[in-house]
Amino acid sequence: MHRGRVLFVGAGPGDPALLTVRAVECLRHANVVVYDTLVPTEVLDIVAPTVERLPVPRDGRDGNGDPGEAIGRLLAGLAADGRTVVRLKGGDPAVFGRLIEEMGPVREAGIPVEIVPGITAAAAAAAAAGIPLTSRSAASSLTILTGHEAADKREVIDFEAISNLPGTLAVYMGVEQVEKWSSGLLSAGKPADTPVTIVSHCSWPDQRIAVSTLAQCAADFARHTWPAPAVVIVGEVAQGAAGPGSPLDARPLGGRRVLNTRPSGQGDDLDALIRAAGGSSLRVPTIRIGPPALWQPLDNAIRQADTFDWIVFASANGVRGFCERLRKAGLDGRALGTVRLAAIGPATRQELDRAGFACDLQPELFRSEGIVAAFGHLTAPARFLLVRANRGRELMRRELESIGHAVTEVPAYSSEPVESLDAATTAAIDQSPVDWITVTSSLIAGSAVRLFGPRIRQWRIASLSPVTSAALRRHGIDPTVEAGEAVTDSLVTAMADWETAHSPPSS
Ligand code: SAH
Repeated sequence: MHRGRVLFVGAGPGDPALLTVRAVECLRHANVVVYDTLVPTEVLDIVAPTVERLPVPRDGRDGNGDPGEAIGRLLAGLAADGRTVVRLKGGDPAVFGRLIEEMGPVREAGIPVEIVPGITAAAAAAAAAGIPLTSRSAASSLTILTGHEAADKREVIDFEAISNLPGTLAVYMGVEQVEKWSSGLLSAGKPADTPVTIVSHCSWPDQRIAVSTLAQCAADFARHTWPAPAVVIVGEVAQGAAGPGSPLDARPLGGRRVLNTRPSGQGDDLDALIRAAGGSSLRVPTIRIGPPALWQPLDNAIRQADTFDWIVFASANGVRGFCERLRKAGLDGRALGTVRLAAIGPATRQELDRAGFACDLQPELFRSEGIVAAFGHLTAPARFLLVRANRGRELMRRELESIGHAVTEVPAYSSEPVESLDAATTAAIDQSPVDWITVTSSLIAGSAVRLFGPRIRQWRIASLSPVTSAALRRHGIDPTVEAGEAVTDSLVTAMADWETAHSPPSS
């Protein structure tokens, strides 16, 4: 039997992008994951669905002595039968993580332990606010303290000593007791105008950052109800958070929830862009990509690939389908001879690139009209192979044929609307309000209207292109924004610009 072990893994502040490489490795190899409520579901998504997950309350009491030790006994029990147990903790496991208590029973049982550090809330908050935690001129120390202790054990925090430190204070668990610890520091002589930066829900989609002062922060907390978890940075360094060029306003989609309707296996780039702009993305595929009804037309075309003058790829999926069949036929790039390759847009070009093919032409306008225009200069009739979906616009073939070219059109994949949403997806959509839905093709437009019904009218709609917008309008829906260019970063920019234009002036 394998020997069990317990890995105490820091999950960072919440954004999965802030996990360490080792943390991701541990999550991928875990047999069971024991986590607390500070760990958001996006981080848990890395864990395979078949792995057992055990939530434990943050105070973890089992009515049997110390809560940390109770969790420690649970961990030891789980590892005793040979399993790899990941104890996933928000931030860093060594900072207010009851590490000693939880490790105790595990070590006593002779079970090996590993500690994987994580980004602690203070470090993540400082980064989000664009400030340092120490500074050569203004802060030669950093003190991490709990605001919670102030409640019942005032003597635990020596406010006098802390106020005299020439440095920064990072107050954890300070939301409920803000009145207590701030007045403690004030009466110990810390200046009333000491700058304070509050970062609530750091790195979560609804992250909020605000600046205040030591004297003002209790009243500000009460007025704005900044939700826990929040970390408060007190000291001169906190001053810089509000200055020009600070990242405070740099998250135009901050707090916005976006439905990404692209098919599964794609759209990760869109998710990443939405997250980078501060939003959260929920994947709800509205179409499904699969093999075409018949491979034969594509296979035939591939066998005679070198007889064409141009192969035109109408989408990244087309490139994938084409390359897959090329390999399947035991062929590689040499089979293409001197044929030239065109891609309809940058994503398609990128896919060609990834497959090791240079792209000879990509039109200015990323749609069929663009391809047709780009070939306007060809005087002699040429042989074209169009690699595309089982459905879509006929325009490209018709236009090329009308100016004398020979066009062979083959499907390299099929795209079909998803028939219905399952209960879990519907629940996830309804869990909290949706701000935006992205619509990235005509087929997705129709499918989204059918799947979401009247709800879609309450959401802001981001359309990828004029063709997609026209499809939406055929269903009686006007997109809120349309991407300047038919590429995903332009789509996210359009949403971000709209949000910036419609955000209330900052107070
Ligand atoms: N081990 C954690 C701290 C656990 S104590 C770490 O290293 O970050 C819980 C406190 O951490 C919260 O009350 C809050 O003060 C802080 N905290 C944790 N995650 C946070 C987040 N995403 N944003 C702001 N504060 C956070």
